[in-house]
Amino acid sequence: MSAAQYNCRKCPGYCCSYPLIPLDKRDVERLARHHNLSFDEAKRAFTKEEHGRKYAMRRKKDELYGKICRFFDTKKRCCTIYTARPSVCRSFPGSGRCGYYDFLAFERRAQEDEKYVALTNHAD
Ligand code: SF4
Ligand code: SF4
Repeated sequence: MSAAQYNCRKCPGYCCSYPLIPLDKRDVERLARHHNLSFDEAKRAFTKEEHGRKYAMRRKKDELYGKICRFFDTKKRCCTIYTARPSVCRSFPGSGRCGYYDFLAFERRAQEDEKYVALTNHAD
């Protein structure tokens, strides 16, 4: 199998800014354990019912993408609960490539700027 064609360390975390970060019951249980909370406390603190999902991750303001996962460190641009992150985050992007990273790398080459942040709007 070929190595991943993307580098999350060089990306400002676009996938964490998706309007819907869907969780299942086991994800909420994992978050509860990680924070020493009951299931209901974790559910209230970290999730809300949205987009037809029983548990959707709460989000917060982000100067780059508008909104982002509540567990995202907006200064260091990384996940703060990596070992307890939900299954959707574990399986993303699912193949050797990340579409956003391809776009980002292309724009950075075009701009000749390694730090350039390519912005695109989610259909929110
Ligand atoms: S958008 Fe792609 S490259 Fe960026 S953090 Fe997510 S998976 Fe990594
Ligand atoms: S839990 Fe971590 S990896 Fe998943 S969306 Fe939130 S910040 Fe990103």
